[in-house]
Amino acid sequence: MKLSSRSKSYMIPEYSLTGDLLSYLTCGLQYRYQNKGTLPPSMPIQLWFGEFIHGVMEEAYLKWESEHTQFPWDWKKDIRPIEDIIDLRLQVRGLYPKPDHFFTINHPDINMTIDDLNEYDHKKLASARAEKAINVWGADLFPLMESAEVLIKGLREMPYTKNDKRSKYYGISGVIDVLSLINMNEENKIVNYLKENEEFNNIIKGLDEDEYEIIIDYKGMKRPPNDVSGTGNESWDYHERQILTYSWLRSKQEDKKPVAGIIFYLNELVPSIEDLKLIKEDIHYHLTDVGDNEKYEKDIELIENWDEDDEMPKLSEEFKVDRSIRIIPIDDNKITEALEKFDNVVEKIETSIIKEINGCKIQDAWKAKAEERTCEACDFKTFCKGNKNKTKDFIIP
Ligand code: SF4
Repeated sequence: MKLSSRSKSYMIPEYSLTGDLLSYLTCGLQYRYQNKGTLPPSMPIQLWFGEFIHGVMEEAYLKWESEHTQFPWDWKKDIRPIEDIIDLRLQVRGLYPKPDHFFTINHPDINMTIDDLNEYDHKKLASARAEKAINVWGADLFPLMESAEVLIKGLREMPYTKNDKRSKYYGISGVIDVLSLINMNEENKIVNYLKENEEFNNIIKGLDEDEYEIIIDYKGMKRPPNDVSGTGNESWDYHERQILTYSWLRSKQEDKKPVAGIIFYLNELVPSIEDLKLIKEDIHYHLTDVGDNEKYEKDIELIENWDEDDEMPKLSEEFKVDRSIRIIPIDDNKITEALEKFDNVVEKIETSIIKEINGCKIQDAWKAKAEERTCEACDFKTFCKGNKNKTKDFIIP
């Protein structure tokens, strides 16, 4: 029997916002090997924590919804069982944490409490962060949540590529961590942060509605520098574009119009040594929007006097909580700009794919350019011509 093949016009390339577009922006060649070549990274530690904290927050919400457990939650009784469930789910997918970051096989001592995790020397970083994320934000966040893990999809016209187009359109998809409805009269810590944001207030001024839809995204990372001049770190802008694109997809799918996005940078609640080194740099070079003024004088002093071999400084809750939340007001002009930028990324990916289809070598078809830190952890650094550390690796001291 002859099987019919799918008509060419229905082959629409699909791009996921985080899996493809943000991943390509980290490094084109690494994206090609990992995403298009389906080669998983050999040590996906970063991936593990991102997946872990998303899973923990989602499960914690479900538990709160069914049991309405009062905050603060007890780490051993309420949070640790959630960590176990998520860890097992990740193990099935072949994802494991760093041994000193989490009790993955050896369970914590029966008498151990969250204080024994010793947040300041970071023995069990993932548990310390899960506990903080739930107890710092859960009480205010969970009551605002409408739905979690919302899949959104849309179609855009394929941008112009120098070579042939593979299709007239491309598909774009994403998963919104949380959709929430916010009443501005509510007494809530998150609503208070929104009220303090001037741009957001200007946007809702003319709308006069009782409730506003807000997109919420968790990130298992520190707050990126927001002055990207000279840092080479463009995550700040990418994250904003991600929220704006989610908002556009949401308006296409459900005719809803979110007015803001909130990103929680959860590493800020319990920064690692590596995170704190970067926070120190951001403050020193005035690259950050939160934590670099008189309000945080004591914290700045502690951080500036801290050296990576010292014990972690005892930063104030205010400093850590303020740095962990970012408000992104959404307006139509910014959405158009963000979509155009994502079209440009798709154009670049498509151009590389077409080059490869036409016989160009992988390393010549894809751009190899990344931050030094990304190259350091990259599985392809030994043979990649774009590896920033390559020359350093071969310098004999
Ligand atoms: S070594 Fe650096 S430039 Fe090369 S593929 Fe890896 S991340 Fe990209």
